[in-house]
Amino acid sequence: MMSDLNVVSISEAKIPAEPFVARHMIDGAWRVSADAATFERTSPSHGSVVTIASKGGKADADAAIAAARLAFDKGRWSRTSGKDRATLLLKVADLIDRDRERIALMETLESGKPISQAKAEIEGAADIWRFAASLARTMHGESHNSLGSDFLGLVLKEPIGVVSIITPWNFPFLIVSQKLPFALAAGCTAVIKPSEMTPATTVIMGELLLEAGLPAGVVNIVLGFGDPVGTAMTQDRRVDMVTFTGSTGVGKAIVKAASGTLKKVSLELGGKNPQVIFPDADLENAADAVAFGVYFNAGECCNSGSRIIVHEDIADEFVARTIALSRKVPFGDPLDPSTKVGAIITPEHQKKIDSYVQDAKAAGANVPLGGSALDVPGLNGQFYQPTVVTNVAGSMAIAREEVFGPVLSVLTFRTLDEAIDLVNDADYGLSAGVWSENVHTCLEFARRANAGTVWTNTWMDGFAELPFGGYKESGQGRELGKYGLDEFLEAKTVTMKIGKSRDPWVPA
Ligand code: NDP
Repeated sequence: MMSDLNVVSISEAKIPAEPFVARHMIDGAWRVSADAATFERTSPSHGSVVTIASKGGKADADAAIAAARLAFDKGRWSRTSGKDRATLLLKVADLIDRDRERIALMETLESGKPISQAKAEIEGAADIWRFAASLARTMHGESHNSLGSDFLGLVLKEPIGVVSIITPWNFPFLIVSQKLPFALAAGCTAVIKPSEMTPATTVIMGELLLEAGLPAGVVNIVLGFGDPVGTAMTQDRRVDMVTFTGSTGVGKAIVKAASGTLKKVSLELGGKNPQVIFPDADLENAADAVAFGVYFNAGECCNSGSRIIVHEDIADEFVARTIALSRKVPFGDPLDPSTKVGAIITPEHQKKIDSYVQDAKAAGANVPLGGSALDVPGLNGQFYQPTVVTNVAGSMAIAREEVFGPVLSVLTFRTLDEAIDLVNDADYGLSAGVWSENVHTCLEFARRANAGTVWTNTWMDGFAELPFGGYKESGQGRELGKYGLDEFLEAKTVTMKIGKSRDPWVPA
């Protein structure tokens, strides 16, 4: 029943009277599209137009790539010192902090995420820029001094070149901050395309980069759609690398598109992330983390804890506890500071979420909570109820595919082996979690789970210092940590002869 839920109706906060106007940033200047085309973004929570953006075409992508190539080849950034790069990255971090409220508001208006969460993400993004600054100054290669008395070997780390950065709508500012500062710390230049649903905060980032003094052409932003802008950015031979976050389907298309010029591709894709709950776990903490894992960002999150695998002995009690907590989570107007779960990104996506739930029901699953749209008084966007689906079989689409909504699937197990089999029976391998007070259970799970990140007795904690990425179809390459910098570096071997002695190869 809807009345059981904690619904936050329309808040006092007003959306801006005028939409944000977003243009391309090419070679240090703000430009409209060559054909002057634009598109609008309608707020998913308030139903009104919040952004009018230039709609890029092939000519705009081409100009941006040319500017990034020239900036790289001229050494405007790649030949600067680590100290100078770090100084600029730190300045950008300070500007992000200064503009946190403005950035968070646009992030909320375009994505539908709660304002308190948006502010925390912008704060987290600034921290990543600071971490990348520290890498810019400590980056180094190797020296080999044991190759014999007449040789010295050096491994130089060099920027890979021009990088295409393609980002999705679920964490627009945070995800570009997991890529761009590392590319810049390495000395690369970039062309960025944000999702057409969330262009504004990437444009604000461009403003801050120019204010901080980044030379023209080092970072370029082209707004618009995957086709034609994204495709140009992945096929053009002047681009050396593509880094992408989004769906596994588009990730595969990008690998194909990039194969024509054999450019490097780094991918952060989807997940179907399990949390396994053992009977000896702290069930209160586990249930809270399960609610957080599935409802955070309305479930529109590659790290969503969208399936739980609960020991049979505690399954009924644990599901009841999770449902009770779910009813208390504040869903509603993302502009209200108390809201924890906001709107669904588009009406089409809302339909997709619902069809997963209806199909599971038709296949024999139960839906003890939610399972339909949520009406938020005063707002005409789209919202979905917190939803729990039980009696789920491992073969159902809802247990295997990314629902990307506030929908929890519940499976059960009897032994650790069975739990591990269920965890690893997935095309994805992004993250996995285990809840147990027994350290041996946690360690065995951590070793056997096929996932890029394993959490034990916690969920979704992330640090700039720790790498993030996926096994299997969840991606390739890593972001964050020192691995996040390595993605943007080439290794060059320099072999140096010491002295003149050399046995002639050609006989005298
Ligand atoms: P997409 O993967 O389609 O989009 C991500 C980005 O890629 C957008 O900027 C998009 O542009 C761009 N793009 C689309 N097609 C191409 C292409 N052929 N070449 C280059 N770039 C391209 O994700 P959606 O936003 O459509 O979401 C669909 C599903 O993807 C979700 O339901 C969810 O399951 C998953 N997803 C996973 C994410 C994750 O974090 N792992 C993030 C977002 C979505 P544009 O959309 O502007 O045309």
